[in-house]
Amino acid sequence: MPLDQSLRDRLIEIVGAAACISDESAMAPYLHEERGLYRGKAALVVRPGTTAELAQVVATCAAAKVAIVPQGGNTGLCGGAVADENEIIVSLGRMNKVRAIDPMNFTITVEAGCILADVQRAASEQNCLFPLSLGAEGSCQIGGNLATNAGGINVLRYGNARDLVLGLEVVLPDGRIWNGLRSLGKDNTGYALRQLYVGAEGTFGIITAAVLKLFPRPTETATAMCAVATLENATTLLNRARALSGDAVTTFELIPRIGLEMCMRHIAGVTDPFQAPHPWYVLIEFSTSRPDASVRLSFETLLETAFGEEIITDAVIAESLEQRNNLWRIRESMPEAQKHEGGSIKHDVAVPVSLVPQFITQGMQAIAKHFPGARPVPFGHLGDGNIHFNISQPPGADKAAYLSQWADMNRLVHDLVMSMNGSISAEHGIGLLKVDEMKHYKDPVELDLMRRLKRALDPENLMNPGKVVD
Ligand SMILES: Cc1cc2nc3c(=O)[nH]c(=O)nc-3n(C[C@H](O)[C@H](O)[C@H](O)COP(=O)(O)OP(=O)(O)OC[C@H]3O[C@@H](n4cnc5c(N)ncnc54)[C@H](O)[C@@H]3O)c2cc1C
Repeated sequence: MPLDQSLRDRLIEIVGAAACISDESAMAPYLHEERGLYRGKAALVVRPGTTAELAQVVATCAAAKVAIVPQGGNTGLCGGAVADENEIIVSLGRMNKVRAIDPMNFTITVEAGCILADVQRAASEQNCLFPLSLGAEGSCQIGGNLATNAGGINVLRYGNARDLVLGLEVVLPDGRIWNGLRSLGKDNTGYALRQLYVGAEGTFGIITAAVLKLFPRPTETATAMCAVATLENATTLLNRARALSGDAVTTFELIPRIGLEMCMRHIAGVTDPFQAPHPWYVLIEFSTSRPDASVRLSFETLLETAFGEEIITDAVIAESLEQRNNLWRIRESMPEAQKHEGGSIKHDVAVPVSLVPQFITQGMQAIAKHFPGARPVPFGHLGDGNIHFNISQPPGADKAAYLSQWADMNRLVHDLVMSMNGSISAEHGIGLLKVDEMKHYKDPVELDLMRRLKRALDPENLMNPGKVVD
């Protein structure tokens, strides 16, 4: 339903005029979409300051049958926070308090609008670690991280957002507040409702606060970039590293030669860490909080053994924080570097770790055959089997013409992923971008269960309609 003046007045009454944005230029940041794939619109942006205010906003909109799009830091990569002209955006940015931190219980209770980096900092100040970490951590919010079940660079060791949440507070589509802010390691009292809201991308309700797990803060970290001749060697290295370190591997990220070259071309200060070129690189990090563990020693043992067995062909160990940052900059600059190479067709996919070499090899062969000249740049979280199989346009090609092949290329890559029992969305979610793709591949029974859940929890279809399931 369109938004009438009396509804606008009521929303202003609830949150205050300064927290209701309708001016076009002030609205622009909320309508921006990270990948430029969608043009957002909205009837209004509402920025409540408390859960009680937010609950009143939702109840008011529910009574008027106005749909709501929850928005966190707006860094999502699937168009999940994009609204249309009849919908209101509820932005969580003002709800950004750390409500409690309990280092003895290794938990922190935060409001949904807390920026991820601020949660990490608050944990660190208590000598704890909140391990969720991703490129957008300076602007994404914990509510958005939970709503998308974000992954990032530490999943191998600590799990994804789903594994890091003990309790939630949620405003339901009718405006009621569910207070599930329990900080228990064990709680088998019926269904784990919090897990319904994690990864639901705001389609069941709005997360307003969460109890998150903390961990001891690592006191020792060792970082290296290893050069490997084959992808099989990369997965063998991962296997050895996990066994030899007592599972202290925090990060295991894949970088292809073409990706390093793109970074060297476009990102200031990036140079080749090696004397000679190699086809593949792995950024590997061990960390521990054990004072006597000597991570560095087990790291060196791993690299020596791997050299001896010809699993790696070269390695650079970071000897300082600056060197560590330089190695990380290569990994973190990959998406930015790719932007400078023109259009890129993206696939955020997962297959079992043991099948990653086969997936990348077959995927690259298929692209070469069906899209001659297109340049695969497969990189990312090899430790989780999550590869960003992004394909840059042929040099000098017309960008729009190249991007018009998005759906065809997706089909080719996703068919291969599904033949390996993989996932067409490993960590970014479904949003608007992959609704049809998920419909195409999901088991009908699974899809039916998802739709039943949606109907049960949001019968009027007012929470982020059109996202995830249609
Ligand atoms: C440079 C860069 C690097 C990235 N790296 C990674 C990565 O390594 N791993 C990864 O997983 N993702 C990554 N992302 C994607 C993105 O940062 C994550 O999806 C992040 O979790 C989104 O958080 P957000 O606060 O920006 O959410 P938004 O973009 O605002 O919203 C995302 C979805 O969550 C819903 N939502 C937001 N807040 C709430 C709430 N409080 N309650 C209910 N629903 C809500 C929205 O409606 C939308 O559907 C990256 C993005 C960028 C730009």
